Amino acid sequence: MMTQMLGRILIFLFLVILIESGSVKGLENLDISFDRYHHYEELTDLLHKYNKMFPSITRLHSIGQSVKKREIWAFQISDKPNVTEKGEPWFKYVANIHGDEAVGRQMLIYLIQYLCQQYSIDQRIKHIVDSVNIFIVPTMNPDGFERAQEGNCDAPSSFGRNNANNVDLNRNFPDQFSNKNQHHQPETLAMMNWIDKYPFVLSASLHGGSVVASYPFDDSHDHKESGYYSKSPDDAVFRHLAAIYANHHTTMHFGKPNCSDTPNDFFNNGITNGAEWYDVSGGMQDYNYLHSNCFEITLELSCCKYPSSKKLKEEWNRNRDALIAYIKQAQIGIHGCVYDNSTIHKNGIIGATISVSGINYNIRTAQFGDFWRLLLPGRYTLIASAPGYLSTTLNITVTNPPGSSINIPLTPLNKTETKISTSATTASKATTATIATSTGAVSVSTIKSNPATDLLLPSVTTPTTVTTHGFSTLSTTILTQKSTETTEIVHTLSSTQPVPSTSSNPKVVHTPSPRQPVPSTASNSEVVHTPSPTQPVPSTSNNSESKATIITSFNHSTPTGHFLVNTQYYHSEDEMIEAIRNVLLQCQHISKHIKIKYGNKTLHAIEFSNFQEDQPTPSLVTGLIGRLYDSDAMGSEMLLQFASHLCQSPNNDYIRSEILSRTKIIIVPCLSHNQKDYNNDNQNCSRLPIKSKQSRPSLNQCLANDTWLTSDKLSKSCRRIPAIAAMQVLLKKYPMDVLIGLQARPYADLESFVNSVERNSQIITSYLVPETLLKTINKMLPSKICNNSQLNKNNNVMFSPQGIQQGYKAVLRIGCCINPNRKALSQYWDAHRTALLEILHKLSSGISGNIFDGTKALIRHVNLSIANHNGLNYVIKSRDGHFQLFLPPGQYHVKAEAKDYNSYTIPLTIFNGAGLTKCDINLTKMHSYNRFFSRTDTLAAMAGLLLLAFGVIVYIVKTVVRRRKSKLRYKNRNMSGDSEGIRATTVSLLRGDADDSDEEEVLYTRRL
Ligand SMILES: [Zn+2]
Repeated sequence: MMTQMLGRILIFLFLVILIESGSVKGLENLDISFDRYHHYEELTDLLHKYNKMFPSITRLHSIGQSVKKREIWAFQISDKPNVTEKGEPWFKYVANIHGDEAVGRQMLIYLIQYLCQQYSIDQRIKHIVDSVNIFIVPTMNPDGFERAQEGNCDAPSSFGRNNANNVDLNRNFPDQFSNKNQHHQPETLAMMNWIDKYPFVLSASLHGGSVVASYPFDDSHDHKESGYYSKSPDDAVFRHLAAIYANHHTTMHFGKPNCSDTPNDFFNNGITNGAEWYDVSGGMQDYNYLHSNCFEITLELSCCKYPSSKKLKEEWNRNRDALIAYIKQAQIGIHGCVYDNSTIHKNGIIGATISVSGINYNIRTAQFGDFWRLLLPGRYTLIASAPGYLSTTLNITVTNPPGSSINIPLTPLNKTETKISTSATTASKATTATIATSTGAVSVSTIKSNPATDLLLPSVTTPTTVTTHGFSTLSTTILTQKSTETTEIVHTLSSTQPVPSTSSNPKVVHTPSPRQPVPSTASNSEVVHTPSPTQPVPSTSNNSESKATIITSFNHSTPTGHFLVNTQYYHSEDEMIEAIRNVLLQCQHISKHIKIKYGNKTLHAIEFSNFQEDQPTPSLVTGLIGRLYDSDAMGSEMLLQFASHLCQSPNNDYIRSEILSRTKIIIVPCLSHNQKDYNNDNQNCSRLPIKSKQSRPSLNQCLANDTWLTSDKLSKSCRRIPAIAAMQVLLKKYPMDVLIGLQARPYADLESFVNSVERNSQIITSYLVPETLLKTINKMLPSKICNNSQLNKNNNVMFSPQGIQQGYKAVLRIGCCINPNRKALSQYWDAHRTALLEILHKLSSGISGNIFDGTKALIRHVNLSIANHNGLNYVIKSRDGHFQLFLPPGQYHVKAEAKDYNSYTIPLTIFNGAGLTKCDINLTKMHSYNRFFSRTDTLAAMAGLLLLAFGVIVYIVKTVVRRRKSKLRYKNRNMSGDSEGIRATTVSLLRGDADDSDEEEVLYTRRL
């Protein structure tokens, strides 16, 4: 008996091993056939198999779907496919954008096989894969290919060239010379999003119909049919890139394709400028170059677009070396990293601009501040710049082979100093100077009687005005400066009124960079001494000898956005509405006025977004809300300033334009109004906000309520507040992913504010107020009031998942005084401007997706957990099979679990400011025996629970009966109390159950 059993077990194990090894062997032997084209199903299968066979160097993902819901596969080959490596350039090949141009599609399939198989054999291939992040898209138009016919050398467009909507995808991209492409096809959109999101450096699009390498531009302003050379700024680099392919191709460089329909075509060296050959508008090639850092050329591989499969082996031999040689070009030129030299870890600066003098084309730094600038060997002048930093210029020599990477330091502007000094004999009386620049920096400094007070200017190189009470106004330009440069220019302010007990006047000393020309100040700036009639006169200081000065405009024609909203005083309700109108008027193209009437009042909000018309992709919505308490006026002022700041030519600012093109920003400057005027010169740094007279919950309390959106769940007292009702309407219209309230509180001094923010949350680490500036402001604030020992310093930023549907709610503590002196408002604004932008930028990434089963039907009731290595773990429940969530940049694993389905985990990288990353998940049904086991498990568990419950009830009943009996027997008086106790327990348990089943959609857990 025993031996029989043992024998059976051994046979079983043997069979298992046989099956296992058989399947592995099957994979190993998978060589791709050259004797046929691979259609969608087979291609999909093959890519999955290659991914399984070479998991350490490959990754397979879909960049989107075709009209007929076929995946557009991107096959990644890299030494670390799941990691974005700093300094490694991104490369892509895309084939089959024209569905009937089939040779490129097969070439890329063979290339995948070749790179994977040769990686462990050929050192040359290993080196390429190790140093370039390669992405291969064998087909961008899978629907078209399925319609095309083998052997058809030049079929009509509807026979596979176009997509399923019969649109030519290579005419469907935005074009620099025409506006005709408003409706992008799904395939085009997927490719555009992919290009926008990732830092590709070099690319080629594979076509058929001739044999030539063509390069930008593909069209020209006049759309001349052919013969017009439309030169791009990087013409020399493009000619080189095209020539590399042509020269490594066995025949292309001869320049004589000898195609039967165009026998006389001749291309010098086998390359051509796209427009010179023939005008193509809306092509993918130019889109790459104009909308990202990616240089793309177009490769025509064969005269016959869809030749017999017998030709495939021959085509592979013609193209193989060229395909490999071209990838290596991703490393020509100069590469390196731009970093913030004021930080200890030399933090990379994302979105910094790299310009090369003489070439009118800039590139941007990627995730780690790293960049790649394709250049031919030679000497160049490189300029690195970023908003908020001084530019760095350096001379470089580009060699072949490429040299080592360069690191470019940038110094934050606020680290540069401008000294304001007064003469030593100035009266002991303090004098105030206002320094304003047209980019929005306004600083106030109290000049003491000591010779010099350092004032840090957050922004320079702009027209600057210095006003000092009792003196005439000085208009000048403070230039970009480095603290190491010591050239001094001394300006003297002349006194307009007698200055008591002093004969000398205050002076402004600053140190401009000698390189920069001084613009004529007279033409650039204008100072209006008298308040404009629409603006109320701010109360002047008690100093009777000083004259009130309001700076309203620096420019005759177009006031800069900063001055759309005055920083010098608190706005009354009417003034606030006026300011909102100003902002809206100034940037109609990106803003909308949202008005919600309630009672006799109106809730005003501004929607900012810069989406392209008809953009169908969902977006993240971030809300900013001010004045949650009547007295909380500072948050309102900051938000008015921020609205006007967003409005200022956002297209010239990388961060701003990225925020506005990826997210919708809803700004509610003021939720609550009272008639109180805070423009007296006292500051209210009281410990707690002034409570409203009625005994009702505060707006903040109502907003803090978990379920405040759904009116029936919100407490009655909250529902009765008109402003809350208005907010509910707003939130129904704009379901928000993140809502941030701005509040000033007498909690922490600003320095600890920074520290606590850093400590407090991974999400909010971006909220770093420039530290030096804060210290300066801190000095000016009554520190005794700010230093409150009782405060909870960790509460300056609170992030909680509750409150808004699936989103998060945060409160930012923006200062220690509830209502600081109006004169300090501009400093608060200076301190928060960059930080607010950065936080919105950090908040402009997330995921959205659907969970499908094998038949493309949505699966309901799915649990998703999204975790990263830092212990951040988000848990979402998707009821309808769709999900959307804000996610900070980083690498995650998304795990989907649903009843009767196998759970599935996929890696995901979220890039900074990338908008919503699409993440569709396909779950497979469990095998029936698995389901059976999982069900029997559940049944057993339920049976166990029932038994347990039965036991408990029996026990309770027995106890009660026993006690009653004993009580009856002994006539105990406490009988009723006991049984009530039992009843109460049961009721509360039931209530707990009910709550659980009705839990909110998002849970947020954070392991430390
Ligand atoms: Zn084509």
